[in-house]
Amino acid sequence: MSSDTPNAGATPFRLSKSRVCDGLQCHKFLWWRIHDKNAPELVNDPATQFRLEQGSEIGTLARRYAGPGELIDLPWDQIDQKLEATADAMRRLAPRIFEAAFGAAGSFVAVDILERDGPRYTVVEVKSSTKVKPEHIGDVAVQVHVLRQAGVNVTRAEVMHLNRECVAPDLSDLFVREDVSPKVETYLLDLPLELKQQFAMLAGPLPDVAIGPQCFEPRDCPFIERCWAAAPPHHVTSLYRIRSDTAWALASDGHETLFDLPPDLRLNVVAARQVRAVRAGEMIVEPGLGAALGALASPVAFLDFETVGPAVPAWPGCHPYMPVPVQFSVHTSRPNGEYAHCEWLTDGPGDPRPAIARALVAACRGAGSVLTYSSFERARIRTLAEHVPELSQDLRELDARLVDLEPIVRSHVYHPDFVGSFSIKEVLPALVPELSYDHLAVNDGQVASVLLNRMLLRADPATPERRAALRADLLEYCKMDTWAMVKLVERLRELAVA
Ligand code: SF4
Repeated sequence: MSSDTPNAGATPFRLSKSRVCDGLQCHKFLWWRIHDKNAPELVNDPATQFRLEQGSEIGTLARRYAGPGELIDLPWDQIDQKLEATADAMRRLAPRIFEAAFGAAGSFVAVDILERDGPRYTVVEVKSSTKVKPEHIGDVAVQVHVLRQAGVNVTRAEVMHLNRECVAPDLSDLFVREDVSPKVETYLLDLPLELKQQFAMLAGPLPDVAIGPQCFEPRDCPFIERCWAAAPPHHVTSLYRIRSDTAWALASDGHETLFDLPPDLRLNVVAARQVRAVRAGEMIVEPGLGAALGALASPVAFLDFETVGPAVPAWPGCHPYMPVPVQFSVHTSRPNGEYAHCEWLTDGPGDPRPAIARALVAACRGAGSVLTYSSFERARIRTLAEHVPELSQDLRELDARLVDLEPIVRSHVYHPDFVGSFSIKEVLPALVPELSYDHLAVNDGQVASVLLNRMLLRADPATPERRAALRADLLEYCKMDTWAMVKLVERLRELAVA
């Protein structure tokens, strides 16, 4: 054991790899994780829970691709038993161990795949992403560090991740393995000191850590609301399309909000409008809005998709995480000022694309402009045209009628409550405050996607009654999305003539 690393006996804490990685993001985050274990912020939301489950399933699948090996198959909290079973497998010189557990330096890690080549070992970390991300290096480095401290001769480190080039139904190349050894070795130069600091910090009071880029990188910290409550409104990070490093450099130079930006800061047109609106405390509407809306051809249809993008592609021609539309809602304007509504939601695990393409073409037939809010629907329609050749002509014709409402808003309207974003989540409450999703059982796009994935690909829920109830909730949610667009356009038309 190296002299600059605390031993397990010197600290009351035994940190898992995940906790160490929390500390690599932010010491305050780790302190709360350990000392405020039951914080409400630490309860996983459905999307996070699904991501964790999916990660675990990918881990199981990766073992099949790696080849035969010995699995340390014990409940997650039986740490000592896992350590013992691993030590036994190591004594027997098992060539490949899955979930091999080691404890040293006050930390505990379980290695997804540990491979032996004579006296040398390779640590393989399985990730459900389609590439190696910067944060994976720290993650693997913690494992290599602990294993070396435990006396294992680790000479190579790899990340095994999903292959974005893999195309169903041929899943033979679902995973790729990348050698990350050089990056891990560089990371290891500073890791012992970082671990020492983490243990020292945990033994003391809550550390004083200022808000910073670490609040969002590598992932959103669950304690953002706690730490950002005292941040001044219109923080410089909310400036439209500002780079994170630029924003934090400005903040550290004393330009913390949009009210105190340096006068020589160059701003794009939208950011400049944002700053004017925020400083004036009122919405700005540009004169061209009426003309942009006037170019829409009646009857106007409003289209929204919900999709699923399984990590392991389910249908021919799909890559990992490729979003496939499984549901849509269309509202269409009528001459009398009312709106017709049409909706579609697939039933089961089969390929939904031919059926949704047919229903979509029919739902939008006769409409002039077909409005969406973002370019997402256009991309999905173009992909549908590739995969449903018998309707490719109709889908291309539909593509030609699509109009993305988001750039129209972005180019003509800024309300201080947009906080630098033109996503419908920010724009709708600011412009149509009377419309709310709060009464809906499903009221979030990410949650809808998770529920659709579970319902369609995992037969969850299993009972017909609960499936019917979930279908109704999902239909209501998607319908609300297009109704929100209807109301948004009505509001924009009012603003254009005001
Ligand atoms: S919100 Fe930011 S400062 Fe607060 S704990 Fe999280 S990462 Fe640290």
